[in-house]
Amino acid sequence: MLKTRAVFLICVSLLGTAPILAQDPADIKAKVRKEGQDSAEINAKIRKEGMDNSQIMRTMHFLTDVYGPRLTGSPNLKAAGEWAIKQMTGWGFENGHLEPWDFGHPGWMYERFSGFINSPVKDTLTCEVLAWTPGTNGPVTAKAHQLILPEKPTQEELTTYLNSQKDKVNSKIVLAGKAQVVPVTINPSPRRQEDKQAKERYDPNNPNAGQGRGGPRRQPEQPEPGKLTARQIDEQLDQFLIASGALIRVNDAGREHRQIRAFNNRTFDAAKALPTVVMSNEDYGRITRILADGTPVELEFNIVNHWYPEGKTAYNTIAEIAGTDKKDEVVMLGGHLDSWHSATGATDNAIGCAVMMEAARILKAIGIKPRRMIRVALWSGEEQGLLGSQAYVKEHFGTFEEPKPEYSRLVGYFNVDSGTGRVRGASVFGPVEAAAVVRQALAPFEDLGVMGAVASKSRALGGTDSTSFSQAGLPGIGLGQDPIEYNSATWHTNLDSYERIIEDDAKKSAVAVAAALYQLAMRDELLPRFSKDAMPPLPPKEGAPTPATTATPGTGVKPR
Ligand SMILES: [Zn+2]
Repeated sequence: MLKTRAVFLICVSLLGTAPILAQDPADIKAKVRKEGQDSAEINAKIRKEGMDNSQIMRTMHFLTDVYGPRLTGSPNLKAAGEWAIKQMTGWGFENGHLEPWDFGHPGWMYERFSGFINSPVKDTLTCEVLAWTPGTNGPVTAKAHQLILPEKPTQEELTTYLNSQKDKVNSKIVLAGKAQVVPVTINPSPRRQEDKQAKERYDPNNPNAGQGRGGPRRQPEQPEPGKLTARQIDEQLDQFLIASGALIRVNDAGREHRQIRAFNNRTFDAAKALPTVVMSNEDYGRITRILADGTPVELEFNIVNHWYPEGKTAYNTIAEIAGTDKKDEVVMLGGHLDSWHSATGATDNAIGCAVMMEAARILKAIGIKPRRMIRVALWSGEEQGLLGSQAYVKEHFGTFEEPKPEYSRLVGYFNVDSGTGRVRGASVFGPVEAAAVVRQALAPFEDLGVMGAVASKSRALGGTDSTSFSQAGLPGIGLGQDPIEYNSATWHTNLDSYERIIEDDAKKSAVAVAAALYQLAMRDELLPRFSKDAMPPLPPKEGAPTPATTATPGTGVKPR
């Protein structure tokens, strides 16, 4: 069974190399056998190095415990990049450097936070600070006031309501909206994808294949005629609270088990937002219910935040393994190094960086001299709209419509950004022949859970950095993973820490990526690309990639 597949795959691999077909069939057979043996030997070495000498958890320790959280523009992120360069240089990589791009906003970090309910009961509150909001300049103690905003208001309804609240919010700590009801989860979604499902997802003959990460992003909220969007309400609320002399804004996290997703003040401007916290749904609900009794509630907050003007320049982290006879061509791999600030950004996405650093390290460690250059890129600004990778693609490659010289020299870009789960397959931007090459490279790793590769035609900017490449018409390769606890618990939350990493899954991902990387670095041809006629058109411009808002005003933007 295994043997049959190997022969079949080797045959597929020769389809793209026409000149060989003119050779003596005996030579071809010999070459095929030799290549098959070589690949099997290399794959065995890759497995051994990846499973026995993995550096992933060590890398994770530094990226999360020591340098996390890694918000774009923050000193932490820059230090994490510098550490990664030092580490990769230590492994023998070359040309490690931070590559600047213009973020345009100052960096921001919070240093400390405390929140209490002082009366009618005493307790500590579980909250996270909204990024790019001002601190409190010392402890602030005040009565709480809750706004019960009208549902889906028109402008007139909102204005009328806010006018009725003007005096009530003055000098108060304001709960911005009613408490959300978060139902208990009776049937949690599975943490692993069944093999059968994963096979279907990465089956080139399945018309519904390829669903998942790296596809088109969720549609932005469609405004209902005459009604304000959640984002418009949120913006007006900030303006109203500042103008009315409120002291602190409190948003409801609206998630179970004290999970909090805290994003950012969309203006990145301290003057346009109050000190703002996102409070656990449990604490928010408790305060809501006490206020509803008619009992006054006194709260106390102390928020210390820092702003870093130098953060306007952000950095992508780059390191390379030099190529040999095809050294002008490059295979890239990476993930985003930036994170949100409520935890140490382990599953989003230190693990993607650690896996990709490891995949390249494995090849170096087993003594591979790649024909093409291998380049690791750890992005920043991903959480603010794939900004770092877009800047990089623009600078280095241009687009299909306006290519730079390097445009034709990139084989492909592998991306991991869906948590700790092992890689289950790849979505490759390009014609089906491109996906076939990646599928063939991954095929020997079905025992590790890797089930295939499918082609993607989408040039829409999606949920992660591979789509910055696909948008430009370049072979972005998005790797799909087992869900584990990503969407249910760790993604963008205060629970995203080192402890949530499954080392064995991450090792297997690195092994599979290393093997695919090896094949793309060594094969005679680049990955097949769309011909001029077959290249899908760019989707209509939507302006700046503004992330969709949450249904409830308050938790800030809900980016990728
Ligand atoms: Zn991410």
